[in-house]
Amino acid sequence: MDRAVYPGSFDPITYGHLDIIQRGARLFEQLIVAVATNPHKSSLFTIEERLAMARELTKDIPNVIVDSFVGITVKYVQSKGCRTILRGMRTMSDFENELQLAQGNRAMEPSIETILLLTSGEYSHFSSHRIKEIVELGGDASCFVPPSILEAMKKKLRRA
Ligand code: ADP
Repeated sequence: MDRAVYPGSFDPITYGHLDIIQRGARLFEQLIVAVATNPHKSSLFTIEERLAMARELTKDIPNVIVDSFVGITVKYVQSKGCRTILRGMRTMSDFENELQLAQGNRAMEPSIETILLLTSGEYSHFSSHRIKEIVELGGDASCFVPPSILEAMKKKLRRA
């Protein structure tokens, strides 16, 4: 298959995201991890921080590129000459959300397809949001995010 875009907030990038990226990179010639700047969503990390973290953690996968975008996802995908959006799915509630997103994107741009990869079992129960809560409350989140991300989260969330 040709190239695909994996869009998301990646606030921050987790082992769950990395699993989707590694598997996506095996399916596509090139995978663009597209970090979204959403003015309606408050984020823990700045766009520059999220980009740097994603770049560092994917630097050894040669066919993965990390980029950022603002605005309508399908427009960004088209601007990159791609026809496929890759997303991950964990739970039934993800399904509802991903279905709405995929149908909305399809209504706007029928030539672009969304492909959903099902989460690997061990990653099904966590999200960036949950991990932030765990770190903030002083819990051990080392099985959810790489050590460098955990340290960055602790700095932000446990500031006295
Ligand atoms: P968004 O705000 O766009 O949902 P996220 O960074 O939360 O951005 O998620 C990006 C994509 O990665 C979504 O499709 C989400 O379902 C998927 N994803 C997030 N965590 C996991 C995980 N643990 N396993 C599989 N997919 C995941």
